[in-house]
Amino acid sequence: MSVFSDVPKAPPDAILSASEGFEASTNPNKLNLGVGAYRTEEGKPLVLGVVKEAKRRILADASQDHEYLIMGGIPEFCKLSALLAFGADSKALQEGRAATIQCLSGTGSLRVGGEFLARFYSHKLVLTPTPSWANHKNIFERCGLQTQGYRYYLPATRGLDYEGLIADLQAAPEGAVVILHACAHNPTGVDPTPEQWRGILQAVQSRRLLPFFDSAYQGFASGDLERDAASIRMFADAGLEMLLAQSYAKNMGLYGERVGALTVISSDAAAKKVESQLMATARAMYSNPPKFGALLVTIILSDPELLAQWKVELKGMADRIHTMRRMLFDALQEVGAPGSWNHVLEQIGMFSYTGLTEAQVENMTTKWSVFMTRDGRISMAGLSGTKCKYLAEAIKDSVE
Ligand code: PMP
Repeated sequence: MSVFSDVPKAPPDAILSASEGFEASTNPNKLNLGVGAYRTEEGKPLVLGVVKEAKRRILADASQDHEYLIMGGIPEFCKLSALLAFGADSKALQEGRAATIQCLSGTGSLRVGGEFLARFYSHKLVLTPTPSWANHKNIFERCGLQTQGYRYYLPATRGLDYEGLIADLQAAPEGAVVILHACAHNPTGVDPTPEQWRGILQAVQSRRLLPFFDSAYQGFASGDLERDAASIRMFADAGLEMLLAQSYAKNMGLYGERVGALTVISSDAAAKKVESQLMATARAMYSNPPKFGALLVTIILSDPELLAQWKVELKGMADRIHTMRRMLFDALQEVGAPGSWNHVLEQIGMFSYTGLTEAQVENMTTKWSVFMTRDGRISMAGLSGTKCKYLAEAIKDSVE
């Protein structure tokens, strides 16, 4: 008998379950399309050239030590991260209205933001798109906030439910927090157009909602850092108060290093007070963030040559994913999979939301050893050219 005997087992994690199934499978054609991590054409993890160079510089620098960072992390890292997201022309940055702290990747940034809101913001409701990255609900509810969905994806068109989205935002309680995926919406790969973003901005302004942007894919989605930050900049330049969680997991391939940043933009001189409370929040959670990954990012973003090279490598990753979309689309045509597959081409970012039902996903896994999440999402980054035909055949067999 343990004092913990009554602890219920946590539900299995969808992505971990897919990876476990993949490891256990003996099928030589098996495919792991569950996990959201970039793989090379050979199916291997990629360490970017700029990351290797930054690492070399750290190791060669005798003055580097393992002292603690301060609670908010590396100040230069924070400054460069805010610049990357908001742009050099940002009024909010120029007017000193932004408070940025280094956090533990995107998840940690969202969590510190959630803790801050739970303590200091008057509204406790967080609106998240339906569907959304599953951890949004976990994170904000663990902060003691309530979550509620707003319409986002329309299965019939496999596109954005723009009318539903606007109607739900307009019906939201004034002041509620609204989570917006800056680009490459996970899991659907469906993003609003610039015109639709303007409509969303208007709805947010008219209900005085507080936007909380989640930016986990800047530069990784389109291959262009500026373009992938356009939604964030549109809102910030309209003078809104807002929050932003940034992650360097995907765009620098620093998954396990846990490098990210949280920025809170406020409308007056509150920024310094806000910053002090963000630090106090971090202090109570993990005291201070890890150093190594943030040093890598600081070196890359502050050196014009490395920055230029990073942009080339980023584009390389985005282009390979785009090529996989094209090759999978062509293979689906070639094998004669019934229905329209244009969405595979049109969706953006790491994932494709195939539209497969749970029963069809079951067939993909049990008969074809294609491991993916039950919602029909596949990671395009986990696919290689040589596997497209096999995947297309599995899809055809599952939808017929
Ligand atoms: N937000 C979204 C939408 C994501 O897809 C991810 C990564 N799967 C994250 C946040 C956070 O990832 P990480 O904590 O690894 O930066």
